[in-house]
Formats: sequence, structure tokens, C-alpha cells
Amino acid sequence: MDRSCFECDFFHFEDHGVRELTEADWQAGFAEGECRINPPVLGPEIERDGDTFRCFGEFPKVLSNDWCGQFKPRVA
Ligand code: SF4
Repeated sequence: MDRSCFECDFFHFEDHGVRELTEADWQAGFAEGECRINPPVLGPEIERDGDTFRCFGEFPKVLSNDWCGQFKPRVA
């Protein structure tokens, strides 16, 4: 098994358009998802129309063929 976010237990993807992707698309990294190894992180404060607010926290976005040193093979 190659190390890649797609093969990692912490990779999470939304199902939007995923069914239209081929295996080659996944291998080429055209699919994106979220890395869920850590809790979500807050983004910067945003100012709009005189108000300052912060959106919900987000998980880091990764591509299916990315990987990092904390890779853990997906179970089933
Ligand atoms: S960034 Fe690392 S921990 Fe996160 S999904 Fe990719 S390989 Fe897994």
C-alpha cells in the first residue's frame, strides 16, 4: 500500500461528485478531502459591513495523493 491521504484512516471526504471520479483521478490527487487527525482549527477573524466574526472551525484540506508523517493505514 502506498502512503497517501486516500489510504489513511484520518482522511474524510464529502460525497459531492466523488462517484464521477475514476481510480486514476484518485491516484492523480484530483480528489480532495479533510485531514481529521486533529480537531478543527479556527480561521482568521473576518470583517464585513462593520461587524467582526469568525466562521466555524475547519479541518485542514488535503488532496487524495498527499501524505504526512502521521499516516495510518485505513482499516477496511
Ligand atoms: S495529512 Fe497525514 S494524517 Fe492527515 S490524512 Fe493525510 S496522511 Fe493522514
